[in-house]
Amino acid sequence: MSEKKNIAILGSTGSIGTQALDVIRANKDSFTVEVLTGNGNADLLIKQAIEFDPNTVVIADEIKYQYVKDALASHDIKVFAGKKAIAEVVQMDSIDTVLAAIVGYAGLESTLSAINAGKQIALANKETLVVAGDLVTKLAKEKGVNLYPVDSEHSAIFQCLAGEFHNPIEKIYLTASGGPFRGKDKTFLSTVKKEQALKHPNWEMGAKITIDSASLMNKGLEVIEAKWLFGLKPEQIDVIVHPQSIVHSIVQFTDGSMKAQMGLPDMKLPIQYAIGYPNRMKSDFPRFDFIKYPQLTFEPADTKTFRNLALAFEAMNKGGNAPCVLNAANEIAVAAFLKDKIGFLQMSDVVEKCLQTVAHIAKPSYADYVETDKETRRIAEELI
Ligand code: NDP
Ligand code: MG
Repeated sequence: MSEKKNIAILGSTGSIGTQALDVIRANKDSFTVEVLTGNGNADLLIKQAIEFDPNTVVIADEIKYQYVKDALASHDIKVFAGKKAIAEVVQMDSIDTVLAAIVGYAGLESTLSAINAGKQIALANKETLVVAGDLVTKLAKEKGVNLYPVDSEHSAIFQCLAGEFHNPIEKIYLTASGGPFRGKDKTFLSTVKKEQALKHPNWEMGAKITIDSASLMNKGLEVIEAKWLFGLKPEQIDVIVHPQSIVHSIVQFTDGSMKAQMGLPDMKLPIQYAIGYPNRMKSDFPRFDFIKYPQLTFEPADTKTFRNLALAFEAMNKGGNAPCVLNAANEIAVAAFLKDKIGFLQMSDVVEKCLQTVAHIAKPSYADYVETDKETRRIAEELI
């Protein structure tokens, strides 16, 4: 008989969080939900708590504390509020694995806290590695913590590496769908509205990552994420556009052989692999059918039109706090685009200007990252 894994889901009310709960609902014998956290969506958090009966829930938005507390009054569930509380509850003894699925920089503190307490991490929150990949991976090593990637491309690389961990990687190819504006030019992009950008051809995701996918910033963040997860040099990472999103990424080894991981685009698969590792749990997800996809195609990424990808490579090459600047500027730019305050192409302008303006720190401490994030947000807001 296998023991159940006790899991904390940070960001349970989001796209990844709700899909993780779908996976857990279908595999009740393998998991116990210990902690659920949300931010603004109190009603969904309450509903999830009633269904999954966790030890603790945390609502990040403190204004909603009383509402959640009252709704769960007749249940034996502890209720806390605020960001600090999330960073505290992840250290509970009863937790084995933390699924880090908060979006953006907001997920950094709780992920670091969980690693500090020696929890295994299923990592969806790519911004954590973009902002402070050196600190996060160093701490994980020190604490004997594994970072299991949830991001589909990184899960693909991780799956290709099974049985190969002693074999050096020559190169990886991260695949990109190209998003809803693949093949479009700058004239077209200068007119697009959030409604168009929010329609991703292959994936249903939260608003921020959907905009990042349309602007190719998502792929840029993933390049930096891959550098840290797999200990790669920048020149070992390439991006290839693959509009069908069937090949999730590719590893090339030093003998020239390549391994790719494939499947229909469904985030439940990488989520399930990350939280179920090392086991592959059975699923009834639809299977890939070659005849329905007679052509899998590949093309180069257009970094002239989609400058964000080039900016991300630039930040990665510069290192230090540059990726932290890139991330913070992008978070502010995406939020402004979602409020119709700036156009689609201006998002790259904000990021580029911040990369030029914020003082470079070659070896940042945690406090430096916090300060860089704050300062970049201030400058980005001013630019908008
Ligand atoms: P969503 O926006 O759908 O969900 C984000 C979650 O984080 C929600 O539970 C939200 O709460 C919570 N949250 C937001 N802000 C805060 C905050 N300040 N403090 C605490 N909690 C907060 O995002 P996704 O699920 O799409 O993405 C989550 C992460 O996973 C991102 O880093 C993304 O890049 C990554 N990822 C997502 C993929 C996807 O398919 N969605 C694929 C690969 C990676 P509430 O909703 O209650 O406000
Ligand atoms: Mg991805």
